[in-house]
Amino acid sequence: MGVRSFRATVLSVVAGGAAWTATEYGLHRFAMHALRGRGLASREHLSHHADVTYFSPASAKAASAAATTVVVLPLATVAVGRRRAVEFTVGMIGTYLGYEVAHRRIHTHPPRSAYGRWARRSHLHHHFGAPMRNHGVTTNLWDRLFGSYDDPGVVTVPRRMAPVWLLDERGEVRPEFADDYAVRGAAGRDEVRVAADRTDAFANAAPAI
Ligand SMILES: [Zn+2]
Ligand SMILES: [Zn+2]
Repeated sequence: MGVRSFRATVLSVVAGGAAWTATEYGLHRFAMHALRGRGLASREHLSHHADVTYFSPASAKAASAAATTVVVLPLATVAVGRRRAVEFTVGMIGTYLGYEVAHRRIHTHPPRSAYGRWARRSHLHHHFGAPMRNHGVTTNLWDRLFGSYDDPGVVTVPRRMAPVWLLDERGEVRPEFADDYAVRGAAGRDEVRVAADRTDAFANAAPAI
């Protein structure tokens, strides 16, 4: 492979990755939140808002990746030819899988970098502050472009929904995260609260504290 051809390959893969971040924004905002539970993707996603420990099964993610490939690959082949289309699709699906891992880790693992810190603050603001803001999980580029980005500030988290990494043994915010987060309310959820969290999630309302 010559230098020029290699450059074109890198460019195609990166373009596919960038296309995923736009897709991530569009699907999250319109297919998941705006539809308020109509359709499987919206129902699954809002179930994750109602219960932040709920994630769609891996089979659903594999199906999304397959569906994306079936749509994107033929369109891209028409536009740029088979070879670049394959590279573009690899970039897009690879970034999609990276997004799935990143989203899961936001909820399950503490940040280890400035980027990880931002990604957690932004996404947890989306969950607990303003579900119709900050739709981009891996980048805020599209939120900034379309005016849906909030600087997360100090994120107030209902204690019953707090990620395990955020709290110490006493259920308080760990000192290293005190500049970014506050927790409020009780730790447990009774049936009434579970139902109310579901209603709020499907109305795109932030959960009550
Ligand atoms: Zn989430
Ligand atoms: Zn969401």
